[in-house]
Amino acid sequence: MTDKPHEQRSGWLMHGNKPGDPQTAPRCGAKTRRGTSCQAPAMRGKKRCRLHGGKSTGPKTVAGKVRSSQNAFKHGRRSIKAEEDRKKLWADLRAVTYSMKDKGYL
Ligand SMILES: [Zn+2]
Repeated sequence: MTDKPHEQRSGWLMHGNKPGDPQTAPRCGAKTRRGTSCQAPAMRGKKRCRLHGGKSTGPKTVAGKVRSSQNAFKHGRRSIKAEEDRKKLWADLRAVTYSMKDKGYL
């Protein structure tokens, strides 16, 4: 949450994005199956609409790829390291239990 009052925001979109008017946007020039052009509003700064390649094609830099690979990471409970640690812990517990059974404590 931000402490900024709403009046100081630049627009009503997130991350400082300016609101656009789709009615005045340039049109998508992709060729349809009918042979006509798509005519849907093109994405900002592009010549194609959201359906015809106007959207992002993903991160290009190594840093961006690393950052985007962490997008679905929530808490690490199911990470490879956590699973291995858990497996090791249970193996140790099993070993202790078997050795106690062998010595007659259980
Ligand atoms: Zn299109």
